[in-house]
Amino acid sequence: MNNIKSWGRVPNAPQSGHSPHWRADIGRVSNDVIAQHETTLAYGSGRSYGDSCLAASGHVICMRGMDRVIHFDPETGRLTVESGITLNEILQIIVPQGWFLSVTPGTQFVTVGGAIANDVHGKNHHVKGTFGCHTLRFGLLRSAEEQITCSPTENEILYNATIGGLGLTGIITWVEFQLTPIQSAQINTKTIRFNCLNDFFLLSNELDRQHEYSVAWIDCVAKGDQIGRGVFFVGDHAEYGDKTLGTAKKTNVPLTAPFSLINNLSLHAFNTLYWHKHPKTLALGRSNYEPFFYPLDTLTNWNRIYGRNGFQQYQCVIPEVVASSAMHEILKCISQSGEGSFLAVLKRCGDIISPGLLSFPMPGISLALDFAQKKSVVDHVFPKLDHIVREAGGRLYPAKDAHMTASDFQAFFPNWEQLEALRAPHLNSLFWKRVTQ
Ligand SMILES: Cc1cc2nc3c(=O)[nH]c(=O)nc-3n(C[C@H](O)[C@H](O)[C@H](O)COP(=O)(O)OP(=O)(O)OC[C@H]3O[C@@H](n4cnc5c(N)ncnc54)[C@H](O)[C@@H]3O)c2cc1C
Repeated sequence: MNNIKSWGRVPNAPQSGHSPHWRADIGRVSNDVIAQHETTLAYGSGRSYGDSCLAASGHVICMRGMDRVIHFDPETGRLTVESGITLNEILQIIVPQGWFLSVTPGTQFVTVGGAIANDVHGKNHHVKGTFGCHTLRFGLLRSAEEQITCSPTENEILYNATIGGLGLTGIITWVEFQLTPIQSAQINTKTIRFNCLNDFFLLSNELDRQHEYSVAWIDCVAKGDQIGRGVFFVGDHAEYGDKTLGTAKKTNVPLTAPFSLINNLSLHAFNTLYWHKHPKTLALGRSNYEPFFYPLDTLTNWNRIYGRNGFQQYQCVIPEVVASSAMHEILKCISQSGEGSFLAVLKRCGDIISPGLLSFPMPGISLALDFAQKKSVVDHVFPKLDHIVREAGGRLYPAKDAHMTASDFQAFFPNWEQLEALRAPHLNSLFWKRVTQ
């Protein structure tokens, strides 16, 4: 397989893929790659935006063939799978049996290996923490000769380093993790639009305590008093209803546009319409889990709308005490730039500590939004945003990153040297090279 890229296609560094088909093949396949190219990296579904899923050597081990369920106990909700299976494939099996993922990111097309390596979080971070918090054990191939089991009590140091370890401590071969019981595939929802950033904080303070899932869409082009206006969504698993799988019709973006279809005009129009479409007062609703958790998954290959140059996502988290003022600064800076995306997400991260050494979330507020790849954004907007994040004591998310400087990374993640000491020497990514070497 050739021409493998990350989701944002920045940097443009196409990779060659080498695919094992059985767990027993992984060591041999990676040894062959290392013999020829010195280093490699596991690659899941490539849903990371920047260069953290790209090998420094340009040769990745494609894990998607490792998609088997090894064991499922429907009594306890403990699931053991190969690491290349996607969350979508898991949901097909577990939802009809009354179980759900304890933590899920905003797309169901990531692999379990990728979910651990970035220690992903979802709309329930304030209640359930990260994916790593529910990971019981996994197999780790440090080299063709060294396959170990890691858990909080077995090889604990490597267990902690691998959760959020960016694929650098070894190749995860299988994973056992804990699911959450559900009575229905339906989600009870509440939706309300709000007028400014201050109202986001008021709603978040009130509603996050009452609901498992919580997230807000932000109008990133709103100006003046309206900075930070948006729509707040909360939800909980319904206590009754059927356990049918998501059946949302998928539409494919068939081609990569020659240039980004997102511009200031289309963004203004979209955002204004979208904001007005939502209710002024709290509206109750009910939906299948799929549109609630994965609205973007209905448009397959949506990354193509950003054109051939690709795009970057900017995701930061700001500590609670300064979140209001720093977020205001960040949103003001973005709105003045006239750049940004329809998809801009604000959410509160809670204080549940992940076992992961380099886990991204911290108690505070996280903002994520996409920018079409442009010199003006990289040279002028990102440095201003980075400055605000740095001064506020926040950090950027490696899974989304293609621009963070080495000095910022090392300040944001002071444990990076411990990860470097535990890195399997034949594993390296373009991201790791950029921020550490
Ligand atoms: C639409 C969209 C929404 C998203 N929403 C969220 C969100 O809400 N929260 C969040 O946290 N993230 C989110 N993400 C990011 C995504 O969840 C992470 O980047 C995730 O790690 C991608 O998993 P993947 O299987 O595609 O792995 P890849 O992107 O292919 O790889 C990611 C990392 O995992 C490593 N890796 C993969 N497989 C293995 C393995 N078997 N062994 C060891 N290392 C491995 C790779 O080396 C790399 O370091 C979103 C991404 C998209 C596109």
